[in-house]
Amino acid sequence: MENNNKLAYLGGEPVRTAMLPYGKQAIDAEDIESVVATLTSDFLTTGPKVEAFETCVSAYVGARYAVAVSNGTAALHLACLAAEIGAGDEVIVSPMSFAATANCVLYVGGTPVFADIDPQTGNIDPEDVARKITSKTKAIIPVAFTGQAADMDRINAIAVKHGLAVIEDGAHALGSVYKDRKVGTLATMTTLSFHPVKTITTGEGGMITTDDPALYEKLLLLRAHGITRAPEKLVRREGPWYYEQQALGYNCRITDIQCALGISQMRKVDAFIERRREIVKRYNAAFKGEETLTTPFEETYSNSGWHLYVIQLHLDAFSVGRREIFEALRAENIGVNVHYIPIYYHPYYEALGYQRGLCPNAEAFYETLITLPLYPQMQDADVDDVVAAVKKVLHHYGR
Ligand SMILES: *Cc1c(COP(=O)(O)O)cnc(C)c1O
Repeated sequence: MENNNKLAYLGGEPVRTAMLPYGKQAIDAEDIESVVATLTSDFLTTGPKVEAFETCVSAYVGARYAVAVSNGTAALHLACLAAEIGAGDEVIVSPMSFAATANCVLYVGGTPVFADIDPQTGNIDPEDVARKITSKTKAIIPVAFTGQAADMDRINAIAVKHGLAVIEDGAHALGSVYKDRKVGTLATMTTLSFHPVKTITTGEGGMITTDDPALYEKLLLLRAHGITRAPEKLVRREGPWYYEQQALGYNCRITDIQCALGISQMRKVDAFIERRREIVKRYNAAFKGEETLTTPFEETYSNSGWHLYVIQLHLDAFSVGRREIFEALRAENIGVNVHYIPIYYHPYYEALGYQRGLCPNAEAFYETLITLPLYPQMQDADVDDVVAAVKKVLHHYGR
C-alpha cells in the first residue's frame, strides 16, 4: 500500500504502466473496408464520396449546405474569405482556443480582437464581445469550447444589431446541442474539424456548414482555385473544354478516400458522443466532494458532445503549482494536456503587439486548467485510473 501511494514522479509505482492519451480516434473494420473500397474506385480525390459525406453531415446537424475541405483550419480560412473579411476589418475572437481560430483572420488580412471568456464555461462572453465592437468590426468567431456552444442567441443578437457575420468554430462540437438546435445551424457559417482527436475523423479534414445559398456557392468556388466548370455559372462559353477562374481560390479539397472514412464514421457519431457523455458522468461522480478542483460547468441550455474534459485546480490548496501537478500526472502515465494557452500569449502574436492583460478571465483560466483524457474507446477502468491518479497527486500535494 505504502508503495502504491508514493508518486511515480517521486520514484513510486505509476497508476498505469502504459500512457493513456488525452484523445484518440476510434477506427473499426467497417471504416477500413470503406476506405479500401474507395482506393480501387474511379475517384481518389473529388468524386461521389465528397458530396455524400457533405450530405451526411448537413443532414445530421440540420444545415442546408455543407462544404467539405482539407482540414478545420482551411474551413476557417475559407469562411473568412466567404464573409469578405479583409484588410482593415476587425474580427472578435475567443482567446481560449487553438491558434487557428485567430490565424484565419490574419490569413485574410484582418485584425483579430480578443474578447474575454466566461470564467465558468471558457466560452466567449457576449458582454465583452459587445464592448469590443467598433466601426471596423466585421465578424465574430465564437468557439464551442470543449463542445459546449457559446451563448449563440446573445451573440447572434449582437451580430444582427451591428450587421456582422458569425463564424462559429465548432471544431469541438459536432453533435453538440444548444437549446434544441445542433451546432452547425447556430451561425452564419460553422466550421468543423475531423482531426483524429475530434468527434469523428477523416485523418485530416474539415467542413463548413451554412444555410445561405450565396455563401455555399462562394465556398465551393474558393475550395477549388476559384474555378468552376458548371455551365450555368460560366461568364463565357468557349467550348466543351472550357472552365473559368472567377475568384482567387485555393486547393482546399478533401479526398474521396478521406470522405469514405468520414461517411463510415458518421454512422457511429451518436454512439461516440454517448460514450463521451458517459465518461464525463463517471468523472463528475468520482470528483464529487473533491474540494481542490472544479469539474466542467455545463449551462442548462447545453447538451455538449464533450470533446474535452477540462478541470480547474484551486491552486492555493496545494503546496506546488500546476506545472508540478501536471508533471506528476504524466509520471503516473496519464496523458494530461492543457487547452488552451491564450492565443495572444504566443510569440507570433506578441510580436504583433498583443499584450498580456487583454483578457484577465482567459489568463486566470489558463493558469489553473488541466485536460484529462477523454475519447470513446476509453474503458471504465481507464477512467478509474485517471481518477485514481488525480486523487493520488492532488491529495499528496494538498496543504
Ligand atoms: C482542431 C481545431 C481547429 C483546427 O482544425 P484542424 O482540422 O486541425 O485544422 C480549429 N479550432 C479548434 C478550436 C480546434 O480544436
